[in-house]
Amino acid sequence: MTTYDAAIAGGGIIGLSVAYELAKTGRKVAVVDRGPLHGEAVSAAAGMLGAEAESHHGGAFFEMCKWSRGLYRSWAEELKDRSGVSIEYVPEGIIRAALDEADEAELLARAAWNSEAEWLSPEEIVRMEPEVASGELRGGYYFRHDHQVHPLRLATALRRACAALDVAFHEDRPVTSLLKEGNRVTGLQTSAGPIFAQQTIVAAGSWSSSLLSPHGIDLPVFPVKGQCYSVAPEKPLTRRTLFVQGCYLVPKMDGTIWVGATQEEAGYDKTPTVGAMAALHAKAVRLLPAMERARFVRTWAGLRPGTPDGLPWIGFVPGVDGLLVATGHYRNGILLAPATGRLVKELASGEPCSFPIDHCSPARSADGRGEIIRS
Ligand SMILES: Cc1cc2nc3c(=O)[nH]c(=O)nc-3n(C[C@H](O)[C@H](O)[C@H](O)COP(=O)(O)OP(=O)(O)OC[C@H]3O[C@@H](n4cnc5c(N)ncnc54)[C@H](O)[C@@H]3O)c2cc1C
Repeated sequence: MTTYDAAIAGGGIIGLSVAYELAKTGRKVAVVDRGPLHGEAVSAAAGMLGAEAESHHGGAFFEMCKWSRGLYRSWAEELKDRSGVSIEYVPEGIIRAALDEADEAELLARAAWNSEAEWLSPEEIVRMEPEVASGELRGGYYFRHDHQVHPLRLATALRRACAALDVAFHEDRPVTSLLKEGNRVTGLQTSAGPIFAQQTIVAAGSWSSSLLSPHGIDLPVFPVKGQCYSVAPEKPLTRRTLFVQGCYLVPKMDGTIWVGATQEEAGYDKTPTVGAMAALHAKAVRLLPAMERARFVRTWAGLRPGTPDGLPWIGFVPGVDGLLVATGHYRNGILLAPATGRLVKELASGEPCSFPIDHCSPARSADGRGEIIRS
């Protein structure tokens, strides 16, 4: 029976980016998913690289998000070379606008830790994006480096690049538990038998805790539902992504606009609801009135892997040999995919990390965990 260098539970964007970076080193890698590859959170994501738009305070995580964002342009080219697939990297920024006084105050307070953001008056926003309604606008930030990609094209590019590096994919094969010998994890037990590996990585998104907790590993990850819809306007309505509290509008290369997203703790339910779509649409129209006339395309929902402090778990699990985790990326899994792949590869290889990741460590204290930040 094959023993892999690395076996990864979960073939979402995080599992695939880890597989890709490990396989580039010549390792023999297996990815095991209980469904098809990239069928969960990545298939629902909007693809914003919102290091600035999604951050509510400065510090190590903010710096890591900007670092990962900075890796994207060359990663996109590398993946295109290896897979032949364009991930539709669009180098247009995000306008994060305020529609009321409280939101304006929250945004302006960010200047204390984000000196790069440019404040725009309502007139300046409308000059940049003439379809935006000026009526309620109080101004906003222009995050010019918060670009975007197409999440499913990214996943396809990674899958093909992995296949070209001989990564073994086991789809429709649930991992039922971790294989253990004493204190060492030796691979994954699956519905179709064991998969042995020198190193095992749990990257099962919102389901990660179900693989870890039976072994006494307490790294909470829970689903946070996000609902979205898309439209196809007759003509382009915005070049840049527009973002207000609780709603963003992301213009895609094919001319559609993706509108998201709710933030609900509703278990593993992924049903889109009329009420959520109506609420999102009401916000979207306040910003971009012409949305009212756009042709409706579809609705969808997905589950973000949330953690109690909003930070991912990346690294070796203390006290257990051969086990790493890469999960809990919450609202930022697309943004953090290149950084996570690279960091896990470095940890697995015993190399120094290119970026400090103590704040993501599975050994970090549970103390001081706060509420998940709502955008
Ligand atoms: C509506 C929405 C919008 C978003 N927008 C953005 C955005 O604009 N930018 C951004 O950076 N991020 C965004 N995100 C967040 C991003 O999508 C996630 O953080 C990221 O996709 C998580 O990737 P993952 O690989 O950890 O998890 P997932 O994609 O959920 O993958 C986990 C995989 O593990 C598999 N699995 C689970 N249990 C088992 C098991 N027992 N055995 C085998 N396999 C198993 C699943 O089938 C799945 O394929 C958004 C998310 C949502 C829902």
